[in-house]
Amino acid sequence: MSRQVRVRFAPSPTGPLHMGGVRTALYNYLFARRHGGKMILRIEDTDSQRFVPGAEDYIIESLKWCGIGIDEGVGVGGPHAPYRQSERREIYLKYAKQLVDAGWAYYAFDTAAELDALRKEAEARGETFAYNYTVREKLPTSLSLSVDEVEARISRGDQWVIRFKMPENDTVEMDDLIRGHVKVNTSTLDDKVLYKSADALPTYHLANIVDDHLMEISHVIRGEEWLPSLPLHYLLYKAFGWTDSQPQFAHLPLLLKPTGGGKLSKRDGDKMGFPVFPLFWKSPATGETARGYREDGYFPEAFVNMLALLGWNPGTEQELFSMQELTDAFSLDRVSKSGARFQPDKAKWFNAQYMHRKSDAELAELFQPVLREHGVEVSDELAGRAAGIMKERATFITDLWDLTCYFFVAPTVYDEKQTKKYWKGDNPARLAELREVLAAIDDFSLENTESVVNAWIAEKGYGMGQIMNTLRLALVGAGKGPGMYDVTAFLGKDETLRRIDYILTNLKPIE
Ligand code: GLU
Repeated sequence: MSRQVRVRFAPSPTGPLHMGGVRTALYNYLFARRHGGKMILRIEDTDSQRFVPGAEDYIIESLKWCGIGIDEGVGVGGPHAPYRQSERREIYLKYAKQLVDAGWAYYAFDTAAELDALRKEAEARGETFAYNYTVREKLPTSLSLSVDEVEARISRGDQWVIRFKMPENDTVEMDDLIRGHVKVNTSTLDDKVLYKSADALPTYHLANIVDDHLMEISHVIRGEEWLPSLPLHYLLYKAFGWTDSQPQFAHLPLLLKPTGGGKLSKRDGDKMGFPVFPLFWKSPATGETARGYREDGYFPEAFVNMLALLGWNPGTEQELFSMQELTDAFSLDRVSKSGARFQPDKAKWFNAQYMHRKSDAELAELFQPVLREHGVEVSDELAGRAAGIMKERATFITDLWDLTCYFFVAPTVYDEKQTKKYWKGDNPARLAELREVLAAIDDFSLENTESVVNAWIAEKGYGMGQIMNTLRLALVGAGKGPGMYDVTAFLGKDETLRRIDYILTNLKPIE
């Protein structure tokens, strides 16, 4: 790749960033890192109607949570600042006028009522209305009005827009790094608005092309929903005379519903109980909320790993990738053309895999807030050890509480089913015998306790299951938990004996 790689993530702050948008940002980031290039964050906020306060901060925080670093852009700065389009507004009019002067665009003064009338006429003929070569000369535009009239209307303050003059019956040939060669006949396209006098702002199409050019973007990697805009974008590069330096394009496949049909939406998430946004979101306007992966207890590394594989595959069986491994392996050639079906269970699977790989120290840090919420104050050492013993059975950090609570809180009530099953017959008396065996052990390590107690059971000819389940009832209070010697080693001798004494004194055996 001869040109310096410069990619951009260019979201519009119209609401919380969908996980599909995060994936777009991630692929841009991986591509930039892979090729020693730059990742730019540009905020495309020229549509004042759809602007949502808080959305930009949400985008920035989401990228940060995911570990998607920005080299230039909003919040970071850089040689092409500002990177927020609303702060670049003076730039665009000049370019729109340049296209009018070159015959690639025109002023249009039509009102909503005039357009409506034409739309109705078209519908009456059974056609769908398109603003294109068929109507632009019938409407009040700089193509149908005299130069003087156009100037007069502009200077008296009439509202106008500048529209692209889409050629009639021409072919645009395009190349996409994922889709390959694409051809479109221009008669199927309409004359898009490029600039509006009403708010003195460009539309997406104009601002996007001008900024990609000025910011020297080498590759545009974005969602498939922008593929229909590609012919217009190609023609804009041509109209400006920038074809030689125009970026290469890659349109990413959609993220599909778990059932396969259609784009993954918030509604699917609400119905099936999974988030479609990286972070929790509360709309400042409506108060409406949406759940997020972060607040639902996903690790950012697991979320990123899962997203990376939705639409890209490494060509091997490997599923677990750190960000560095993704960077080393990523290429656009392995991005699929067809949509990627999202599987909520797979997201959980990834989280569990990352949980299992965490060290006791990492687990301690994440688990301590949960313990504190339950009123448990323990050392990081113990928090980490308990979590480490049970992590293989957990998907989320919050799962660890149910899995480990008996390590920290002695049982005072006992599971009814287990009590009925084991707190009867010889078992209480044998637990009292076991208590003395345990009391005589000095080295209470897992291995030593295990060998002493097992030898005693064998010597007495007792049933291993009865003894162990009775001990479990005493120490855990229920039929759950890890191996019994994990529990005794964790609790230590004093606490183990205290719990045995407690059950012997307080729980009446079943007759
Ligand atoms: N602002 C557009 C969006 O929100 C950017 C599309 C593009 O990357 O060109 O998706």
